Amino acid sequence: MKKLRQITTVKRHVLIVDDEVVNREILGNILSVNYEVEYADNAKEALAALSRQDKRFSLILLDLLMPVMDGFEFLKKRETTETLKRIPVIVMTSEKESEVRSLKLGAADFIAKPFDMPEVVLARCERIIELFEDQDIIRQTERDHVSGLYTKDYFFEYIRQIELWSRDIPRDAIVFDIEQFHLVNEFCGRDFGDRLLAEIGSALKNELAPMNAIACRADADTFYIFATHQESYDNIRNIVQGILTEFFEVNHIRVRFGLWENVDRNVEIEAWFDRAKAACDKNRGDLTQAFTRYNNEMHSRYMFEETLIRDLQSAIDNKNLIVYYQPKYNIEGDTPRLTSAEALIRWIHPTLGFISPGDFIPLFEGNGLIQKVDNFVWNEVAKQIRKWKDEFGVTVPVSVNVSRIDIMDPELETKLMRLLEENGLSPEEYMLEVTESAYCENMERLIEVIENLRKKGFRIEMDDFGSGYSSLNMITTLPIDILKIDMSFVRNMEKDERNLKLVELVAGIAKFLKIPAVAEGVETQSQLDTLKGMGCQIIQGYFFSKPVPPKDFVPFIENELERRRGA
Ligand code: C2E
Ligand code: CA
Ligand code: CA
Repeated sequence: MKKLRQITTVKRHVLIVDDEVVNREILGNILSVNYEVEYADNAKEALAALSRQDKRFSLILLDLLMPVMDGFEFLKKRETTETLKRIPVIVMTSEKESEVRSLKLGAADFIAKPFDMPEVVLARCERIIELFEDQDIIRQTERDHVSGLYTKDYFFEYIRQIELWSRDIPRDAIVFDIEQFHLVNEFCGRDFGDRLLAEIGSALKNELAPMNAIACRADADTFYIFATHQESYDNIRNIVQGILTEFFEVNHIRVRFGLWENVDRNVEIEAWFDRAKAACDKNRGDLTQAFTRYNNEMHSRYMFEETLIRDLQSAIDNKNLIVYYQPKYNIEGDTPRLTSAEALIRWIHPTLGFISPGDFIPLFEGNGLIQKVDNFVWNEVAKQIRKWKDEFGVTVPVSVNVSRIDIMDPELETKLMRLLEENGLSPEEYMLEVTESAYCENMERLIEVIENLRKKGFRIEMDDFGSGYSSLNMITTLPIDILKIDMSFVRNMEKDERNLKLVELVAGIAKFLKIPAVAEGVETQSQLDTLKGMGCQIIQGYFFSKPVPPKDFVPFIENELERRRGA
């Protein structure tokens, strides 16, 4: 910090407020050695000078007895004005009583009149300026500018301090989250969103102070509170919800709370809030529940997830992650033809056994680790296509799943191209499945990425189509090569007329776009017949095969080659 100050060449501004010309001159002479000095005749003039936006003062030297507005009045006014409070005041006085009174009113120091040796005056001014600037820097790192609450780092540091002397007092970790906050920014603008967060921040501060609790904004719309154990936090919830309701008379935006009561001191502080957050997330979308407490069931889930996160790298290193392949058949002719396969990941854990992708994919999508999984899968798939090509002289195109985080990765195209190059493959042999909901999220960026990939020659399948919210209008402008009907429609189409109609609709859309429709989750002959009748060309599902490891996929290739020889 010292260094930074020394290299600052611009002189700081100091304001001398005194009605006596002689005093002003003496002091001005002393200070102008180090500072740009300005003068005011009385406190009223000083306020005018300070309200100008073009200059930032680092120090005010204040006389107490002045006409029009005196120094005491100035100090009182300063106490209630945030911007003025940031500028330190040194009072100039000859009376002991006034010294005490002005210090009580917030003055940082005093200089006795008549003035001391110039070096002493200068040194005092310098010291006070440094002190305030240091405080300002600390304030900036401890406070979140938007909400006025602590920053997450400072919050944890603060708790660590509190815990040093009161580890036996029961405490609670509370996390709350504003649902759909991104919509607030999107529809009402960032400024509006910031104002809302500021309002919540200041209300929290008021409410928490008497409870001996502290809070921070941990993430865009997520807040953490650390409090001495209480039976209920309804008051806080009501206040936050009240602010939200006030801001959105029409759109009801909801806050949801997660709570870990009586935190376990054997667990790290950060994890207290991870658990409260797990409880909070559990509550997502459930309108009946305002508060969710961290419980045993969540605890097991949490520990399970922690294990998965911890073991991911070793699973990759030790080949506990295995890529399975599920064949896709073209059913247009009399006999189905093998057209391609989908790569689906499997995890055989050394102690937990088989883990379903449904258990770890959403988890890793949430924390970003999915990229690690996907990169691994893509790599394995490229090698596998190469291997079969060498063994059988044909390409079995394989589609891989691409998560939304992958799409945002600026390296995506480079990564894929490098893989193909390393294995001597071309993009036509490699297909990418992107789920429909990813299309809805950040459409412009996604379209740009997909368009570039298509230009390179990759074929793009829109996965889970029908489960998201794309409009007809949107779908016609999107760059896609294949539509994949969401499995849930296929599963239920024989039970439920509505699903049947939806499948028909999707097949119609594909026809309109002149691209093939894939149906997945096809398990029976009758489902296959129905789909064929609707013009659906490609079928994937247990009817043909479950996803299988590479060695079990070989017979499908051999049969296909056999079929081609016979045709
Ligand atoms: P998805 O991409 O929609 O994959 C289709 C899922 O349907 C697979 O589940 C597949 O095994 C299952 N399935 C296929 N045919 C049938 C059938 O006839 N009946 C039934 N009941 N199920 C069928 P799986 O392998 O459990 O994967 C679940 C999801 O996990 C996938 O859904 C995909 O979103 C994700 N996933 C799997 N592997 C990867 C991967 O390597 N990367 C990424 N990002 N996601 C993956
Ligand atoms: Ca898929
Ligand atoms: Ca799917």
